[in-house]
Amino acid sequence: MTRFFFFCSIATLSFLFFSCQKQAQEKVYTNVDQKLWGLFEKFEEEARLRGFDIDLEADGIEANIGLIEQQHVAGTCHYNEDTPNRIIIDEEFWMIADDNLKEFILFHELGHCKLQRNHREDAFDNGTCISIMRSGIEDCEDNYNSTSRIQYLDELFHPDKF
Ligand SMILES: [Zn+2]
Repeated sequence: MTRFFFFCSIATLSFLFFSCQKQAQEKVYTNVDQKLWGLFEKFEEEARLRGFDIDLEADGIEANIGLIEQQHVAGTCHYNEDTPNRIIIDEEFWMIADDNLKEFILFHELGHCKLQRNHREDAFDNGTCISIMRSGIEDCEDNYNSTSRIQYLDELFHPDKF
């Protein structure tokens, strides 16, 4: 039995604000906290836009919001050959993160748990991270926002192009 853990930290929590997430929810994800359903559906949609047919419900990926004891760790992905891959998003992080940051972290964990991606720490010349798959403990600077997200999601699904 092989088990891998990815501990994914969030380096900066600046620019946070509270906002409401309102969207029509059609799909059900049996083993996923309902608060994460909207983002699961969005991940499938972003995958579809980039040529991938992904059904996270069929994959049986589990995801919950819970306490992660390690400091500054916002999410984890547990790989296990014997059970479905499992994501945990830290509940304290979840309470204070804005929608953008929630998407960043959940998509990062799905990058591990669904796309089998490892961490990528490369930076552009201006020091910002090339990938949302950065670990958060290296030097590159996060720059995930409503404008840059398209390029980051392109990289998430097609890392070879960057
Ligand atoms: Zn990670």
